[in-house]
Amino acid sequence: MIKFYHVYKAYDNRKQFALKDITVSIPKGEFVFLTGPSGAGKTTFLRLIFRELKPTEGKVVVHNKDTMHISKSDLPDFRKKIGVVFQDFKLLENRTVFENITFVLKVLGYPARFREDKAYSVLKWVGLQHKFNEYPKSLSGGEQQRIAIARALVNDPLILLADEPTGNLDYELSIEIMKLFERINNRGTTVVIATHDKNMIDMFKKRVIRLEHGHLKE
Ligand code: ADP
Ligand code: ADP
Repeated sequence: MIKFYHVYKAYDNRKQFALKDITVSIPKGEFVFLTGPSGAGKTTFLRLIFRELKPTEGKVVVHNKDTMHISKSDLPDFRKKIGVVFQDFKLLENRTVFENITFVLKVLGYPARFREDKAYSVLKWVGLQHKFNEYPKSLSGGEQQRIAIARALVNDPLILLADEPTGNLDYELSIEIMKLFERINNRGTTVVIATHDKNMIDMFKKRVIRLEHGHLKE
């Protein structure tokens, strides 16, 4: 499902590698924590999966596709199968929950009726269907993150990536959000979560990929 073969990544004009010789395989349906100190390369790892970045050397294979060879016209289809969730939610402040969730569906040209049905079913699934017409500002941090997760699910992704998804949430809410990721994973979606929240890693007992200074440690 996700394979890294001897992957090196250097950002422009830098001699230092953010990732060095990473070879790792994440099978379909797995739940993985990606951890390591700040600057270890976690975000870079996720961005390589999403083809926001290409490897400097080596190969990243996602859904049997070498990400080096995805054409510009195939990129939207490739990304449709990957949902992404961020620490700061990245919701559009001047759009309702419904508009936030269906923004991408609109760009992809899906009709209004389909967008409404889909938004309603994913919102129901995260328990926030009553927030359909609210604006993000009126929601708590935990609710905003659940909306962001609902948004990541509208395209029925095969892979869900999350970058420090509980970084802005307290302990109780973090557990709630992790349980939601577990439910998503139980439906067969591969889940990769970058986090340095040791509490969550200890509590949820999943496979751990540890990075340090760009090297794979564990
Ligand atoms: P983490 O997510 O584990 O904190 P990152 O993947 O963000 O780690 O960063 C890994 C290394 O790459 C760090 O040394 C960081 O400074 C560097 N880096 C990250 N993004 C960029 C960028 N856009 N340009 C240059 N260097 C970057
Ligand atoms: P459905 O019968 O349409 O699947 P559910 O209430 O079970 O209804 O799911 C709600 C929505 O969440 C669905 O539209 C589904 O496509 C979306 N979804 C996509 N991927 C996942 C996932 N891995 N886990 C949970 N929901 C998902």
